[in-house]
Amino acid sequence: MNPKDLRLFDLLRIDEAQGTIFLHGQRMIVVNAGDLGLLRKELITTFGTDRARGILVRFGYARGYRDALATKEMFGWKSVDDWLSAGARLYTIEGSGAIEIVDLRVDQERKSYQGSATLQNSFEANQHLDLFGVGAEPVCWILTGYASGYCSAVMGTRVFFTENSCRGKGDRQCHIIGQSMDLMSDQTRRAIEEFQGADFDLEMRTALASLDERTKDLEIERAHTESLQRQVVQLEQLLTLQNDTEAMVGVSDGFRRMMDEVARVAATDATILVLGETGTGKDLVAREIHRRSGRRNRPFVIMNCGALPSGLVESEVFGHEKGAFTGASQRKLGRFELANNGTLFLDEIGELPLDTQVKFLHLLQRGEFERVGGNQTHKVDVRIVAATNRNLEQLVSQGHFRADLFYRLNIFPVYVPPLRERVVDIIPLVNHFVRKFCIQFGRNIKALSRESLRRLQGYAWPGNIRELEHVIERAVLLADDEVLTVDLPGPRAQPVSREAFAGSSKDLVPLEELERTYLQRVLEITGGMIEGTGGAAEILQLKASTLRSRLKKLGVPYGNRRKITNSS
Ligand SMILES: [Zn+2]
Repeated sequence: MNPKDLRLFDLLRIDEAQGTIFLHGQRMIVVNAGDLGLLRKELITTFGTDRARGILVRFGYARGYRDALATKEMFGWKSVDDWLSAGARLYTIEGSGAIEIVDLRVDQERKSYQGSATLQNSFEANQHLDLFGVGAEPVCWILTGYASGYCSAVMGTRVFFTENSCRGKGDRQCHIIGQSMDLMSDQTRRAIEEFQGADFDLEMRTALASLDERTKDLEIERAHTESLQRQVVQLEQLLTLQNDTEAMVGVSDGFRRMMDEVARVAATDATILVLGETGTGKDLVAREIHRRSGRRNRPFVIMNCGALPSGLVESEVFGHEKGAFTGASQRKLGRFELANNGTLFLDEIGELPLDTQVKFLHLLQRGEFERVGGNQTHKVDVRIVAATNRNLEQLVSQGHFRADLFYRLNIFPVYVPPLRERVVDIIPLVNHFVRKFCIQFGRNIKALSRESLRRLQGYAWPGNIRELEHVIERAVLLADDEVLTVDLPGPRAQPVSREAFAGSSKDLVPLEELERTYLQRVLEITGGMIEGTGGAAEILQLKASTLRSRLKKLGVPYGNRRKITNSS
């Protein structure tokens, strides 16, 4: 068969019922040439001329390469010349423009190709003129790609076509020249290698690689943010722990009863409900439970249910995904997730909004949750310690608190006694706070006025330990010498307690004496025992050696068999 005899309709197989058109065995579709022109325009405006040229040359290259293999299979051309001519003929009858081969020199053995052709009615030149007007460069990119692909497939080596005149840049007709690599000058070869180096594939790969980099950067940034969130929690924990473990001291019956309960439940993973008036130190009790549990080296996360930012409650509790709502520019971990493997302290649980209570309950029952704006289920292992100064049963009966959540929380209630029931503990607490605020404000308080001590022990303390702390803070701030004078609001509520301090008869009570008296009291309770369970060191949360050196310094006699006497 002569390639010149190829007819479009002979090669077409049209099945209108099936919606298929096959041309020399390959599926085709009818595309409006104007639409292809618009695509070209899109490519140029989106990627710039160089990249658009690259894409369309490669598009043509693939089409030419496929056509070469398909026609060889169908017609089994007798000569390479015929096979090559068939390409020009196919391009023409497919409607892209009329190609005429001007010159063709082929050495099949040496895989050497040289040829040129003209093209009339180039659809590309028409499109370009319509959309952009007369250009400065040749524009028949698909054509040169097609010719390169077709001839490369036939020759089994790289053949490269360029267009040296083009109707798209104002020439009379389009003219292309092709050469195999072996015939090219070093300069042309280098130019081609550079062109190949700049091909779209590579650019895409480079662009994707830089996207990958960016994604990695973002991932690192996100991990960094999350680690900062965790660090904040740890620092909060550290700060308060360092300051306030000493506030967990007392020898009063109420305090000791409470500590017995804490000791019983701390080591379990049970949910604890800490009950008590405002300011009694329920948060310290929660910390103590955490400190005595197997989770002590894991996070202790505080969530104040009464101070959750309105509208962001769920995000605070469960966290949110990036873009979950306006302003959610980063993924944020919720308090539950931050507390994973540790303890979550839900302060003021009675203030939790009703709609959040439902989600809470589900989380507590299943240990599962979803971040706001996310659809992935996360599992957490969190020990819950909740606290409230409200009467939850009453809130339940009023419909403000879910009964099922109340029963879920109220498994082990721990009652924190108010300060007025712990008058004997006022001395160590005063000592602790004076020491704390002296360090904070750079003061050197050495003594307390006897009148002040009487006031402290006689006052009703409606605000409990927190009020005591504030009173001492103010007094330390206002003190202008080494003596602390305490003012209390309102009339004295109580006469001086039975357990009142029995120390110096002078007007001033040295702080050392307060401490001495307190340590003696503790030793009385333990029968002089310092170490071991129920020993003075345990009650005071001190190392036995530290306690001994303190007793020695204060001149307090001690020893298991020795009788403890009051030094006054
Ligand atoms: Zn052209």
